[in-house]
Amino acid sequence: MSTTRTGHDHRDDDGITAVDHPLVQHKLTLMRKKDTSTAEFRRLLREISTLLAYEVTRDLPLEPVAIETPVEAATGQQLMGRKPVFVPILRAGLGLVEGMLELIPGARVAHIGLYRDPATLEPVEYYFRAPGDVAGRLCIVIDPMLATGNTAVAAIDRLKDRGVTRLRFVCLVASPEGLAHLRAHHPDVPVWTAAIDRQLNDHAYILPGLGDAGDRLFGTL
Ligand code: URA
Repeated sequence: MSTTRTGHDHRDDDGITAVDHPLVQHKLTLMRKKDTSTAEFRRLLREISTLLAYEVTRDLPLEPVAIETPVEAATGQQLMGRKPVFVPILRAGLGLVEGMLELIPGARVAHIGLYRDPATLEPVEYYFRAPGDVAGRLCIVIDPMLATGNTAVAAIDRLKDRGVTRLRFVCLVASPEGLAHLRAHHPDVPVWTAAIDRQLNDHAYILPGLGDAGDRLFGTL
């Protein structure tokens, strides 16, 4: 995948930003190790999610605001518009919410429950709950693993059905197949990922990946 340098990250011409910050890469490597405990995995995911939130919000628009410092009047900058919405895809996406909220405590959180039918690998929706005014907000969809891309596409479909026009997708590990699928269906949705791995296996797991993120996060192996 051809990439160009943008600050600390690599962004290709197709709206995909590979976050190569050393802390992200170090923590991701620890998460990949099969002997990393559930507690450690959960902590690392929360820490990486804060770093990813920093990257995905890097270009949010600002507006000037008049303030008083203890010594004089000044003009500061504040985030423009309504707070964004983090949209974790249940259940593994939950592992990224807390760390992202540490950076944007006032963000809203919408939940989308989708699971992969093990036979067809197609996403099946079992839960959807979003703020009533979600259409007017930036929605940041989060899921640690972008494997086939079916779930991400379905989640974004659902948000667009609700009128959302400003969307971003954040994951930890992406497959080339999943990225291609997501970009083909939603070319308007930029993607941030900490890693682009080699390929999917026959069970749609990412190689080398880190295994089942939900199971590792919740200790349900
Ligand atoms: N979901 C996961 O949790 N891991 C994968 O490798 C693929 C999908």
